[in-house]
Amino acid sequence: MERYDCVIIGGGPAGLSAALYASRGKMSTLVIEKKEFGGQAATTEELENYPGSMEEPTGPKIVERMKQQAASFGTSFVVDEVLNIDTDSDIKKIKTRKNEYEAKAVIFAGGAEPKKIGCPGEDELRGKGVSYCSTCDADFFTDLEVVVVGGGDSAIKEALYLTKFASKVTVVHRRDQLRAEKIHQEKAFANPKISFIWDSVVDRIEGEGLVEKVILRNVKTDELTEYRTDGVFVFIGTVPQTDVLKDKVQMDAQGYIIVNDDMETNIEGIFAAGDCRKKRLRQVITAAADGAIAATAAIEYVDKKFE
Ligand code: NAP
Repeated sequence: MERYDCVIIGGGPAGLSAALYASRGKMSTLVIEKKEFGGQAATTEELENYPGSMEEPTGPKIVERMKQQAASFGTSFVVDEVLNIDTDSDIKKIKTRKNEYEAKAVIFAGGAEPKKIGCPGEDELRGKGVSYCSTCDADFFTDLEVVVVGGGDSAIKEALYLTKFASKVTVVHRRDQLRAEKIHQEKAFANPKISFIWDSVVDRIEGEGLVEKVILRNVKTDELTEYRTDGVFVFIGTVPQTDVLKDKVQMDAQGYIIVNDDMETNIEGIFAAGDCRKKRLRQVITAAADGAIAATAAIEYVDKKFE
């Protein structure tokens, strides 16, 4: 059983920022990350709205520097999956696939993952034309035609990014107005490679081994139409990765963790930060801010509780 003052679950911007503040605050600190450090930011090509990131605004570079900075203050890192968090006693027990840890404070920064359409063909053709990450996959669609599903910031920003590779990008949105910020909308409307299909959802994705077409349903008329495409990029929001704390800490109906201004959950010693918590604005900067606040509150909590 390894013991730490603070165990942080999730290695995205919220977790890495919490790690920097906790380690710099002289807490022995471990970050447990399930997949790849950096979270969704690591698959975001441009982070042009992260203050001070103008020279190298790519997500992977920014999160790599965040990790290095936390490591320079002594944070330990491990790639492993958390299976259970025992919240019943003052010292929290964290069971992972490979190990068990004890912590005086836990900062949960599990983030959120892309939401699926849930239509036939989506799972079967994932990685064969269906993608949730244009930074990872755009290159495969050089000079090909792609569909982007969604109308939020992610969909529109990623549609713009895809125009650097694809010959044509068609945004399919379920309403006739975009949700994305005006600045992204203006760029998309002005881009000759981007066209829009409004009031429509993807009913199914079809292809023999690779995506060949989508069947679209007009939500106003219920009419089905076939649309030829080589790829389907899905950006219709995210789902919080909070299952491990289900029925333990307070969450809203969608599974986002409810915290106070100090990022404290309803369980003493358990804090939550970043995209996994109920909040208005999910950005790298707000995730990093959450992490800093959570770690600062955790330091204060540990000092008082275990003095
Ligand atoms: P989002 O803002 O929740 O937008 C999701 C989009 O997908 C909406 O347009 C929504 O339609 C549509 N949608 C949802 N469920 C759908 C379904 N089942 N079928 C079809 N369409 C569906 O999600 P996001 O774009 O991933 O952004 C998540 C957060 O990150 C937001 O807070 C966003 O501001 C932030 N973000 C910011 C930036 C930036 O550069 N500022 C970049 C990326 C993300 P409706 O509009 O009809 O609801």
